[in-house]
Amino acid sequence: MFKKEITTECQRCGACCKKGGPALHDEDRSIIEQGGIPLTALYTIREGELARDNVNGGVIRLPAEIIKIKSLEDSKTCMYFDDANKSCEIYDTRPIECRAMECWNTKKIEAIYAHTRLTRCLVLEKAGWLTDLVKAHESECALDKIQILVEGREAGDTNATSALMEMVHYDLHYRNLVVEKGKIDPEMLDFLFGRPLSAILSLQFRVKIEKLKSA
Ligand code: SF4
Ligand code: SF4
Repeated sequence: MFKKEITTECQRCGACCKKGGPALHDEDRSIIEQGGIPLTALYTIREGELARDNVNGGVIRLPAEIIKIKSLEDSKTCMYFDDANKSCEIYDTRPIECRAMECWNTKKIEAIYAHTRLTRCLVLEKAGWLTDLVKAHESECALDKIQILVEGREAGDTNATSALMEMVHYDLHYRNLVVEKGKIDPEMLDFLFGRPLSAILSLQFRVKIEKLKSA
């Protein structure tokens, strides 16, 4: 009779790394501060966005923002996973979720998963001007505002359609301005302001920008 092998230690197969990069927690702050993970390697999923719940399963609307390590292009795999060698490129400074990951026993990851999550304001505590930029963008482009405008647009409100379009332009213009005037690396934009509004509208609200223009 087939006997199922029970894993009790990490085989470093990388299956968990291929499901996406980890979310960061307070414990990971020092790694960022010491340059172990640059801000260009991060992105923010903002409050109100849909995200996969890796512990409980399913997709949830986030009650608070999370910061994650980016994935490789057109893939879910964490950008630090070296597939050829089945290894983590930042193994010694990998985040706490990766240290807690035991696919044969989810207790450790469950204990930390939703707690003490890192936020943009905490990461940028020593860079007040960047925090101000983040807050200004959030107050103009918050997900609950988008939700209201999308509902208005669906109900035929042309003012809501125009306001939504203005918000998309604002988001785009704001990002360009921060790169040009603030000399910010474009790779940092998805950490500072989350994913572009046009992408969120398409992915979460099924609103394409071309459709928005002709509505
Ligand atoms: S925790 Fe499990 S899935 Fe992840 S690398 Fe180790 S053995 Fe593979
Ligand atoms: S940081 Fe390293 S251990 Fe963590 S998911 Fe990425 S490749 Fe895997």
